Amino acid sequence: MVPFGYVARRYVRNVETNTVYHVVPGAKALTFGMYGCDLRCPYCHNWKLSQALRDGDAAVGATPPIPMTPAALVDEAVSAGCRVMCAAYNEPMIAAEWVRAVFGEARARGLFTMIVSDGNTTPEALAFVRPVTDVYRVDLKGFSSEQYKALGGRIEPVLAAIAEARRLGFWVEVVTLVVPGFNDDPAGLRALAKKLLAIDPAIPWHLNAFQPRYKMRDRPPMHPELLVSIAGAALARGMKHVYVGNVTGMFGELEHTRCPKCHFTLVERRNYQTTAVRLDGSSCPACREPVAGLFTERA
Ligand code: SF4
Repeated sequence: MVPFGYVARRYVRNVETNTVYHVVPGAKALTFGMYGCDLRCPYCHNWKLSQALRDGDAAVGATPPIPMTPAALVDEAVSAGCRVMCAAYNEPMIAAEWVRAVFGEARARGLFTMIVSDGNTTPEALAFVRPVTDVYRVDLKGFSSEQYKALGGRIEPVLAAIAEARRLGFWVEVVTLVVPGFNDDPAGLRALAKKLLAIDPAIPWHLNAFQPRYKMRDRPPMHPELLVSIAGAALARGMKHVYVGNVTGMFGELEHTRCPKCHFTLVERRNYQTTAVRLDGSSCPACREPVAGLFTERA
């Protein structure tokens, strides 16, 4: 069955819960997902959806598909006061036609649109969704072929998709979930920063700490210290916005957006919630430095 005309799940939550920080901070987003994924990450947060077609355990207690039209889904978003429509949870690019149909309707009603993807896609698919999509948020899951092989993919198409998405004019943010014993080699993470820097230093890079789940319940959570050190190195090399997520306490400071020039705190966050926005339009109110992102109306 071609995946079209249904959702498996949808929620209205703050846009930041999709780990997207430079798009209308604090706005509500309707995020929807379907079933299936081209990868098989053993730490998948949404494995009951993403692995529904290949892991028998995922089918236990699974919710059935909910028939949906683009207009009905966008009606829900507008009635709930959302400014953003987001495709996530499973891999949206395997249902690019359905996502494009929903986003066409969403854009016509004035919503921002975003895809949360594993980046294992093609230039053709990116070009296909671009006319109705504002944001391409990519998970960059490792730095080696072996790591990607373990997840069922390859790193090259992901790096190429990040570069192509920027070239096509999507707003791009990148997330790397750092997993102990899997991709926590500092040299490898620093090499990833170098690759992102070469694509665009303004791409926000989110270093998220692993939490035990799915087939990796026996691993310890990721300690924040390594992430802080990698973030510091990436900022020193010239990346403008590096965040550390899934951590608490003093490390929570690394959830805030700071001006890349004068370091004024522009957006404060706590646990994926925006608590203060001090931007003047898209600029720093202290030094007038423009800050990259979609902070105001699309125009
Ligand atoms: S790519 Fe994302 S949705 Fe797919 S298995 Fe991995 S974490 Fe889950």
